[in-house]
Amino acid sequence: MKHPKVVAIGEIGLDYHYDFSPKDVQRRVFRSQIALARETGLPVVIHTREADDDTMAIVKEEGAGRVRGVFHCFSGTATLAAQALDLGFMLSFSGIVTFPKAEDLRAVAASVPADRLLVETDCPYLAPMPMRGRRNEPALVVRTVARLAEVRGVGISDLEATVAANFTRLFGG
Ligand SMILES: [Zn+2]
Repeated sequence: MKHPKVVAIGEIGLDYHYDFSPKDVQRRVFRSQIALARETGLPVVIHTREADDDTMAIVKEEGAGRVRGVFHCFSGTATLAAQALDLGFMLSFSGIVTFPKAEDLRAVAASVPADRLLVETDCPYLAPMPMRGRRNEPALVVRTVARLAEVRGVGISDLEATVAANFTRLFGG
């Protein structure tokens, strides 16, 4: 973690969908990983799936006010978004925001303050429309940006500048 190329700790978090590890083990490891972020000052990249309450409780207990980071591939509710934003976290949106049925998520994405917004591929998953279902790659993130810009009522280049600045602020130049 002291290597100059290490800019964050992640993905870390809880996944109760796949449940690859017992939940108590997931929670214990997540806590210790946030503790590492506290000690090193590195931001965290948080993954949470079907585990909103436990994820938020642990982030609050272990990291509130002391750890920075991002909820990656955000696909949660407006409630989870508000809680994450309250704790100072950024939210990162993937190709999901381009999917036809993702109206609720687009509403969340429209309401996130500009200085808390990131985008990502989640490559090789979650390719944006119209490539949904194909292998995702970094070049396709422009389609996610374009949809987000439309939803937020800003220009594409404005949004590009916004997320680039947010990235640099969170992860360093
Ligand atoms: Zn993830």
